[in-house]
Amino acid sequence: MIKKIIRFSAILLTAGMLGGCSGNNTVSSPESTPAPVSSPAPESTDTPSTDSASENSTDGTDSTVSEPEQPEVSEPSEPAVTPINAEPDYDWDKVIALTFDDGPNTETTNEVLDVLEKHQVVASFFLIGNNIDDESAKSVKRAYDLGCEINNHSKSHGYMDKMTAEEIKAEYDYVDEKVLEITGEHTGFFRPPYIAVGDEMWENIDVPFISGLGCNDWDDKVTAEMRVMAIKRNVKDGDIILMHDAQGNHMTVEAIDELIPILKEEGYKFTTVSGLFEAKGITPVTKMIYSNATQQGMWG
Ligand SMILES: [Zn+2]
Repeated sequence: MIKKIIRFSAILLTAGMLGGCSGNNTVSSPESTPAPVSSPAPESTDTPSTDSASENSTDGTDSTVSEPEQPEVSEPSEPAVTPINAEPDYDWDKVIALTFDDGPNTETTNEVLDVLEKHQVVASFFLIGNNIDDESAKSVKRAYDLGCEINNHSKSHGYMDKMTAEEIKAEYDYVDEKVLEITGEHTGFFRPPYIAVGDEMWENIDVPFISGLGCNDWDDKVTAEMRVMAIKRNVKDGDIILMHDAQGNHMTVEAIDELIPILKEEGYKFTTVSGLFEAKGITPVTKMIYSNATQQGMWG
């Protein structure tokens, strides 16, 4: 093995912004019709209830249509969430994945989800393990039930390029196990805190890494409008957009409410990170950090 230490401790989000405006303005309107939302299959309980009032009293009709009684013990019904249709389609001309880091929380994560629901688009969330508690887990479940993807942003949000193999594994596994508890699924992608990456991380985290096109939305001095314009100016087909649903980041909520319709107007479709790779017919690999699903090099 070549002992090559790659240590990127600087934030390299801006690297993804070098592309500039694309002169290609082919606005297309793919006419994908949403697939019908399948209603959950009712679990029929065939056990007849014993205390049902007899129905065969009057008018001689012998069509005994028995109405199935509700089972007495039912699971506490959570607020119904209607999944957003986000089936990736190979025919999409332009497709991107919105991603949000540094949640979950009960306020801003839900505000982001409200906007996603309003515009009927899905996104992917990269969670910090230390932010997951019983209350914020409900936001995670809501996101998952809407069709969003839940991914991994480490337990403590430290500089993992300076951690040992054991520490790195513990950081990843903590979030992975929490998400498994909440959603029943493992986390399939990892976003390194501060996009700081070192050899030990490549060796000990066995999923593809994700970076993305950012808009410095962690900086209060960057207004919602500036966030919208930064993405609008630089986005291209296949991009992963990097934003933050950190507690109190209302300007990003505002920004996506404005940005999503603009990008839709330009012909973009929205999907999850895994949906993005699927739409592009690409199998993401480990020891890569993706900002765009179609990139060839390790860093883009
Ligand atoms: Zn972060």
